[in-house]
Amino acid sequence: MDKKKSLTKVERQKLEEERAQTQAELERLREYLRTAPEPSSDEADLEVYEREKNLALVRRLEQKLAEIDYALRTAQKGTYGICERCGKPIDPERLAALPETTLCVKCKNDLEKAARRAARGSVV
Ligand SMILES: [Zn+2]
Repeated sequence: MDKKKSLTKVERQKLEEERAQTQAELERLREYLRTAPEPSSDEADLEVYEREKNLALVRRLEQKLAEIDYALRTAQKGTYGICERCGKPIDPERLAALPETTLCVKCKNDLEKAARRAARGSVV
């Protein structure tokens, strides 16, 4: 098997920069959520909305951080760029645009379709 791909120095740097940025953003948001006043009156709808929005963002950033960590780990093992679902190499163009991705386009689409189906509930 000669499919192994390791990160180039530049790719690795890009990932680590992105990781640092994501982490900083995450800490900023968590700090905001910690210090934001608890909404107490009827007029706090906007605050509730802001809080929900920030919580959603925190979850997204945590997910992203996990993906970046995963990518950096796979880079160490020499399996970077291999789809974690089907084990096939991920399109290099996709990796260039989304260095932290762990899924090929097909698997990503499959999962999104499944998620959309689940979101629609009973509709098959
Ligand atoms: Zn795949």
